[in-house]
Amino acid sequence: MACETKTTCPYCGVGCGVIAAVDDKGKVSVRGDPDHPANYGRLCSKGSALAETLDLEGRALYPEIQGQRAGWDEALDLVASTFQRTIADHGPDSVAFYVSGQLLTEDYYVANKLMKGFIGSANIDTNSRLCMASSVAGHRRAFGADTVPACYEDLELSDLVVLVGSNMAWCHPVLYQRLAAARAARPAMKVVVIDPRRTATSDIADLHLAVHADGDIALFNGLLAHLAETGVIDENYVGRHTSGFGEALLAASHVRMADLSEATGVSGMLLRQFFRLFAQTEKVVTCYSQGVNQSSVGTDKVNAILNCHLATGRIGRRGMGPLSLTGQPNAMGGREVGGLANMLAAHMAIENPEHRERVQRFWKSPVIAGHAGLKAVDMFEAVADGRIKAIWIMSTNPVVSMPDANAVKAALEACPFVVVSDIQKDTDTARLAHVLLPASGWGEKSGTVTNSERRISRQRPFLSVPGEARADWWQLAEVGKRLGFDPGFDYRGPADIYAEHAALSAFENDGERDFDIGAHAEINVEEYDALLPFQWPLRQDGSSTARFFADGGFFTADRKARFVPVTAPAPEEADECHPFTLNTGRIRDHWHTMTRTGKSARLSAHIAEPYCEIHPADADEAGIGEADLVNVEGANGRSIIVRALLTGRQRRGSIFVPMHWTGETAPSARVDTLVSSRVDPISGQPALKMSRASVNRH
Ligand code: SF4
Repeated sequence: MACETKTTCPYCGVGCGVIAAVDDKGKVSVRGDPDHPANYGRLCSKGSALAETLDLEGRALYPEIQGQRAGWDEALDLVASTFQRTIADHGPDSVAFYVSGQLLTEDYYVANKLMKGFIGSANIDTNSRLCMASSVAGHRRAFGADTVPACYEDLELSDLVVLVGSNMAWCHPVLYQRLAAARAARPAMKVVVIDPRRTATSDIADLHLAVHADGDIALFNGLLAHLAETGVIDENYVGRHTSGFGEALLAASHVRMADLSEATGVSGMLLRQFFRLFAQTEKVVTCYSQGVNQSSVGTDKVNAILNCHLATGRIGRRGMGPLSLTGQPNAMGGREVGGLANMLAAHMAIENPEHRERVQRFWKSPVIAGHAGLKAVDMFEAVADGRIKAIWIMSTNPVVSMPDANAVKAALEACPFVVVSDIQKDTDTARLAHVLLPASGWGEKSGTVTNSERRISRQRPFLSVPGEARADWWQLAEVGKRLGFDPGFDYRGPADIYAEHAALSAFENDGERDFDIGAHAEINVEEYDALLPFQWPLRQDGSSTARFFADGGFFTADRKARFVPVTAPAPEEADECHPFTLNTGRIRDHWHTMTRTGKSARLSAHIAEPYCEIHPADADEAGIGEADLVNVEGANGRSIIVRALLTGRQRRGSIFVPMHWTGETAPSARVDTLVSSRVDPISGQPALKMSRASVNRH
């Protein structure tokens, strides 16, 4: 008789419910949870293969110091004493945590509390900076808080779904399945894909607009101007619930259709078709993902989209609204606890002195970080130039995934003290650790995650923890205590941490802040273990909400939304040596740096090696044939060798290389070594999809 446990998939931001069964012989099988509102029983290829990724091959099973096995006390004492000495000698900003959207909310909460409230620095940032920081910044500018106004059901209720910079079919597959099923059931429903590539997602699209990289602002500005010209603005909503519409429209209005076509790379005919469709359809959902966020103008792109929904009042009502699709399983949970260097816990603002005082009072902490910390790219630059002398990296592999990845590697090689907590011991980053701490993994650890529609679900253990691995929150709390911060870190388990997080979310919160799960402030272990998936906010009276802002109520001082005037960036200067725009991203069956999905032969069989998608005409000009090996060289002079894949799905002048292959799996194909570390100046998110590159036959 198999023992079954309800938990949540550890991969993408859809956050599907999974039922894991362990039989008498210890064999694990998984299936979709029919009761989970994110997936109603569906799983994608990655989720279905979870049981194939649970072996102990390559696992970190005990702490190591300089590559030698050590005891937990010895390792934790060394971490605490080195951080303490570094802080004493060089101040709190000389240390940093670089964490991950793979962490559970409870892990994230303790990391953020330790760094911001007890060490006194905000140098804690996360690989979520690479994923959705521009959406966070765009939400905060428009809504006054990082609030996602719509939910998954809206995709099914909508009459028009616009997907911008999102290969949903591969990157959020179950949500795509829901969308495709809804469209099949209601053929009148339309789907528009706005993406430089004609991806698998485009296969169900009525319109595909193959926009230039970074052409989105011009496109949505053109749409806003069209909505105004055709009288589709919801004057009542704009007047009562927003400010700044005139300025935003002025910024959007000066482009003629001929120029718009040039600025976007989309024909006037297709633009007009899309504008008419959007104008004539009341129920519109616009989903946006990494093609929007991973740009040096990502925040402006987000606001260009939000402007169109605010102008039409199509927000917070059934079947309409903007919906950011987060990449990671817990990118949203990290935001809730303040896991970004420029945010405080429970969606409070680090730049707000009242919020800082409130959080410090709640935590009874000796200090509180007084200013924003270093965002991911800046953080590793500070490691490189010696400002940061001790860094703790948790559940992420920045030597592969950060832009200009070799510079990150060199920075960590030269850093006086690197701590890595991970489930695997042979990642490109773990190899550089002075102290390696073995973490418990999916199926072993316990906590909560939040998906893209603000739904909090439990991850529950169903396997025993191997070797001496321990949960990340425990590791952090033990270091906190060794730094002398007992009782601030005296947790008995994740339920204690969750209850404290819930209490902080409601602390002196009379509706002024969006994030509130205060009804769980007194939760006990049994209730925590039995927690069903729910969407925040969940207030003291038990009320929840699926949607925000149908009747205004934004989280600004005057409760009105802000239109943000945005202008399209000037075209990039031509670089004859590197004529292509290099776009990077995911493939269907691998996740991040493949530490887990690489274990499944079935998943690896989908696409077995790294490749470079290139338009056949571009390949022809360069003398490149199908399946040739090619050198892809970045503007930093570094190059990789991958196989050419000729496809008309690629725009001319653009190439695409997947981001998963590592120094371990394909040493010559780490694409992020080529990617520029240019960031959006507002969000700090790197422009991972828009580097310059050349391609030549190898
Ligand atoms: Fe997991 Fe995402 Fe697939 Fe759902 S869609 S099973 S969350 S990878």
